[in-house]
Amino acid sequence: MDNSPVEKLIIVGSGPAGLTAAIYAARGNLKPVVVSGREMGGQLMLTTDVDDFPGFDSGIQGPELMERMRKQAERFEVRFIDENVQSVDFSKKPFVIQSESRRLTTESLIIATGASAIWLGLESEKKFMGRGVSSCAVCDGFFFKDKNIIVVGGGDTAMREAQYLSKLCKSVTVVHRRDTFRAQSALVELVKSKPNVKFMWNATIEEFMGQDKLEKVRLKNTQDGKVTEMSIDGVFVAIGHKPNTDFLKDQLELDQKGYIALHDETKTSVEGVFVAGDVADYHYRQAVTAAGMGCKATFDAEEYLENLIP
Ligand code: NAP
Repeated sequence: MDNSPVEKLIIVGSGPAGLTAAIYAARGNLKPVVVSGREMGGQLMLTTDVDDFPGFDSGIQGPELMERMRKQAERFEVRFIDENVQSVDFSKKPFVIQSESRRLTTESLIIATGASAIWLGLESEKKFMGRGVSSCAVCDGFFFKDKNIIVVGGGDTAMREAQYLSKLCKSVTVVHRRDTFRAQSALVELVKSKPNVKFMWNATIEEFMGQDKLEKVRLKNTQDGKVTEMSIDGVFVAIGHKPNTDFLKDQLELDQKGYIALHDETKTSVEGVFVAGDVADYHYRQAVTAAGMGCKATFDAEEYLENLIP
């Protein structure tokens, strides 16, 4: 028998979207609970310099920004459960949220679980993860100081990774499957201006090879099918992100890419369930836009709760 009280608002996720939602909700007296995930703070925890979040004239480190947002939420007595959500049941009200050790019930919910890196999906990629293959330059770049590395991808993420790694590594080769980048031209120009960055067009990685750690890759030319091998110390896969929606199963409408489908601002297909940040937004994906959406989601949840029949 579960006697825990029904919460007014639970927020799932603790990046800028979730924590901003929590700060607004606490100040609006909704007494929110944040189920933060085992890794608190979202993608900004994997970032160093944040120079574009307003209010920090000299910039701020990503983890410090998240720590300060959490402290701000705690100042308004937001309660945190540092666990992952495993499943939800939206078929009845109150909604049921099952985390690793608890069953929670709530009248409304904000989902702010963000998105995670996509991998190439090769068997050999798994074998060398953490042993030469990474998806996060900021987290792992240090291990490749003065080494030769590859960045895979042709979007903004790949350019950001290449730019960051060019400051640390001896050489950076950007391997892209086509002959044009989809990244914004300003970023491409910035990367092109780095003397230690080279570009390999029309190429994909077919296999990661080595004994205990990555030593080389097998590459295939996407135009003529020619296969070559290249000695390399590290590969950073930067081909996009996947929204963290697995725990939702068939409870909520998702779009074709698996992001939560929006129904008018922050509303979802289930009345009383709202969404904020990268889990619904694959276009802007900025800390400040996620934070803004977190604020909107709380206002929408507040309006929903006010209109519930007591
Ligand atoms: P993206 O724009 O979807 O780019 C993914 C890149 O990876 C594409 O070049 C794609 O190739 C390539 N790719 C995908 N699957 C591949 C595979 N299996 N093998 C080899 N290559 C593969 O993803 P993103 O770069 O993560 O950016 C996502 C969104 O976030 C964008 O809207 C972007 O503007 C935004 N963003 C912005 C910043 C910023 O600093 N402003 C930074 C990061 C991200 P094709 O081009 O051939 O499809």
